[in-house]
Amino acid sequence: MSFTINVNNAPIDVQEGETLLTIMRGKGIKIPTLCHMKDFAPSGACRLCVVEVEGKRDLVTSCTYPAEPGMVVKTNSSRVIKARKAIVEMLLANHPDDCLYCERNGNCELQWLAEELHVKERRFYSKKNSDQRDHSSSSVYRDPAKCILCNRCVRVCEEIQLVTALEFISKGNKTKVNSAFNKGLNISSCIDCGQCIMVCPTGALVDISHIEKVQSAINNSKKTTIAMISAGFAASVAEYYGLKQTDNPIGIVTAALKKMGFSKVYDMSLANDLNVILEARLLKERVEKNIHGPLFSSCCPSWVEYAEKFIPDTLPDLSSVKSPQQLMGRLIKYEFNEGANRENIYTVSFMPCVANKFECSREENTSRGISETDAVITVREFIRMLRSYGLNINHIDPEKCEPPFDNNSNAGLQMSFSGGKAEAIAQQINLMSNGQNNKGFKFTVPKNPGSRKEVKIKIGKHEYGFAWVSGIMEFQKYLNHLKEESRTDIHYVEVMACSGGCAGGGGQPIVIYADKQKNRKKMAQDLQKSISNSVAGLNSDLVKYTLLAGLPENAPEFYTHYHERNILK
Ligand code: SF4
Ligand code: SF4
Repeated sequence: MSFTINVNNAPIDVQEGETLLTIMRGKGIKIPTLCHMKDFAPSGACRLCVVEVEGKRDLVTSCTYPAEPGMVVKTNSSRVIKARKAIVEMLLANHPDDCLYCERNGNCELQWLAEELHVKERRFYSKKNSDQRDHSSSSVYRDPAKCILCNRCVRVCEEIQLVTALEFISKGNKTKVNSAFNKGLNISSCIDCGQCIMVCPTGALVDISHIEKVQSAINNSKKTTIAMISAGFAASVAEYYGLKQTDNPIGIVTAALKKMGFSKVYDMSLANDLNVILEARLLKERVEKNIHGPLFSSCCPSWVEYAEKFIPDTLPDLSSVKSPQQLMGRLIKYEFNEGANRENIYTVSFMPCVANKFECSREENTSRGISETDAVITVREFIRMLRSYGLNINHIDPEKCEPPFDNNSNAGLQMSFSGGKAEAIAQQINLMSNGQNNKGFKFTVPKNPGSRKEVKIKIGKHEYGFAWVSGIMEFQKYLNHLKEESRTDIHYVEVMACSGGCAGGGGQPIVIYADKQKNRKKMAQDLQKSISNSVAGLNSDLVKYTLLAGLPENAPEFYTHYHERNILK
């Protein structure tokens, strides 16, 4: 049923059941909130979205209040503004005054609100949270003093990622957000996805920055600093700065990194191709041997950590192929720079993900004390580096990446969004089964697939079932379904821990009030158009150089292993 309400003296047609906040946002009327998140049930916790409804004694929270026929609403009366200002002042009463030094300075929802509501002085004081800052994690840094108890991180961690690494403890004015037993995130159930960082309105949750150590490596004359750019990273940078596919974003990022002082810049797509080839081979062998159960992809480090901590029984079916980041670091340090002293090669990957920071610190990814990848710079950190080096991306001429890794298929771009890797694997198996005859091969996604994304294709003598899922909650639902239905027709499941895949990764720019995932995916798809080779196995450099380096495709250096991890519960 539809009816009309009156908002700020103008009629608006609404549907029964819609909340006032949804209606206003749909009409472009700005209502502040610090707890609301799209696709989550409203909690009304922060009360900033209050509005005045004629005939009601008290202001109502618009996120929880459904529209009623004939309602008369005021969103910006002096009573409403006064109430919102008082709420912000109360939040600031125990907030540290270190905005100048805060990671979120200039991009903090609390700071914006204080400015918008004209808060000019501290009228209220309350006891500051003196809990220790937590820098134990490889990816996420937590500063409890800046927490405003909005509940967003707790909900994302529990409801979307299912791991409940953060939770509310105590009650009343002693309420806090904490990790289990007030111990470090590193020994908690955290899977380093960084999704809590993406929703935190303040600087209470930020990434563990690698900028300083990268800059100190660049400034160390004994070090050769090598940048490895993922294609998905370049797509996100392009989207952020409004570049077009024809601007050659990978070339522009390459040039910017050279201006920062990197000795060499490589495109990581070759490692994506290698990862796809090796994983396709594993899958083909499993199908031919009729091995029961699907092979799970392993290029998302956060999903791998989830498997290790929560469902270790899946580890034997997790692809043992190293991730593109680790393959690339391995190739650069161990296979292509033999002449240089390995300790002095410093590899830095550029990724849209914070979990890659955890991945490069894994013991399995070091050899004789030397890491394959030394540091990881996220899209957010790269944007900050550009600013600190005074570089304007819109005025940089593109440069070519270093050979021999400048020839690749579009698998690297495909792998930056959910479903892309499954397709790249299918294309490679088709190449392996049918030779060069890849023309006309179609990976057709069924129309209206619902929440289940599956494609079944006959390749050679076998029918392959591919599935892809992003977000741990969605994955867990899918895994339960596979088990409950005893399905044997799905052979490969691509899993990405962040909703939408790397396009929604925890290292992407924090853009408030806008959903950028679709734009990032679109940019990655546009960039694919400039690459003529659509199959990993047709990358001639890969064949030439892995063999030149004396490494056949099945070299043990390209594989890793996983193990069950205990967590504090
Ligand atoms: S990084 Fe992910 S798993 Fe860890 S606390 Fe944040 S949301 Fe939870
Ligand atoms: S840490 Fe950030 S997201 Fe979590 S409750 Fe505090 S302010 Fe909200």
